[in-house]
Amino acid sequence: MKPRALVTGGAGFLGSHLCEALLAEGYAVVAVDNLLTGRISNIEHLRREGSFEFLQLDINRPFDCDKVDYIFHFASPASPVDYMVHGIETLKVGSFGTLNALEIAQKYQAKYLVASTSECYGDPLEHPQKETYWGNVNSIGPRSVYDEAKRFTEALTMAYHRYHQVDTRIVRIFNTYGSRMQLNDGRVIPNFMKQALRGDDLTVYGDGSQTRSFCYVSDEIEGIMRLARSDEHFPVNIGNPDEFTILECAKRVIAVTGSKSSIRHAKLPQDDPKQRRPDISKARSLLQWEAKVNLENGLQMSLDYFREAVAAETVARA
Ligand code: UDP
Repeated sequence: MKPRALVTGGAGFLGSHLCEALLAEGYAVVAVDNLLTGRISNIEHLRREGSFEFLQLDINRPFDCDKVDYIFHFASPASPVDYMVHGIETLKVGSFGTLNALEIAQKYQAKYLVASTSECYGDPLEHPQKETYWGNVNSIGPRSVYDEAKRFTEALTMAYHRYHQVDTRIVRIFNTYGSRMQLNDGRVIPNFMKQALRGDDLTVYGDGSQTRSFCYVSDEIEGIMRLARSDEHFPVNIGNPDEFTILECAKRVIAVTGSKSSIRHAKLPQDDPKQRRPDISKARSLLQWEAKVNLENGLQMSLDYFREAVAAETVARA
């Protein structure tokens, strides 16, 4: 019998890539999603596979899905635009959703891995960010619905590990991009790709000197799969340490798409972190993992997906 994995948020950008990786690894996969920000189109191709099932349900209410061997808890809005629109939902899935996922892990003695985020570091005063850094988070700012939900998620996960001996893992994911990102989720790569492919101005918020470090989706998934196989219970950063200013990122997108678009500066959102770069020494030594795909190649590999998504949206609008 195949081992059975539950993926919450399985119809999301990362969740759906993870389902694919688990199927390739020989798991039977049950993906659950309430489709708030996830999309059926992300998993349509998997529904033809015998070892894959999808359940549309809200994990904020107690649920069951029969015995599973591994739980990958990935449900949550993840882009700043999405989590600010769905602030309460984001706090609920980080708290109730996480509690319900951990209850299932305890019930079936399943292994458990949760998607956390670099957002736990807030607007970091330590650079690059190591897992030992406690962060600089505004607990009442507009981003707090996500940051504090994920920090609570980590606390609850460690508590179930300490008090109930659940076999847990925590991955802190840094900005990840690639196919299946929603064109309108507001994150910088889909925004810039869409704008460049349409010939619109690229909207750089503020002066564009803030930095991010972008990880291509296949690298991120490989890091997560390696962590899943490990016995590490404390958080592990998985991200690409190549750091770019947002202005530089805009220029890379213009170059890769061959676009004639210009750059237009717009208002910087409140509490926008000034810098982000993972220290991945722990992932390197513990998992022998590091990112392989640089930004230029990752953007190149994502180009067809974004082209098709822009074309589909243009047809839908007409
Ligand atoms: N950003 C931008 N233009 C956009 C979208 C985002 O300049 O159209 C900036 C945003 O202000 C932030 C960075 O790009 O500094 C990354 O934003 P994103 O929403 O992708 O993720 P974050 O790392 O802030 O969670």
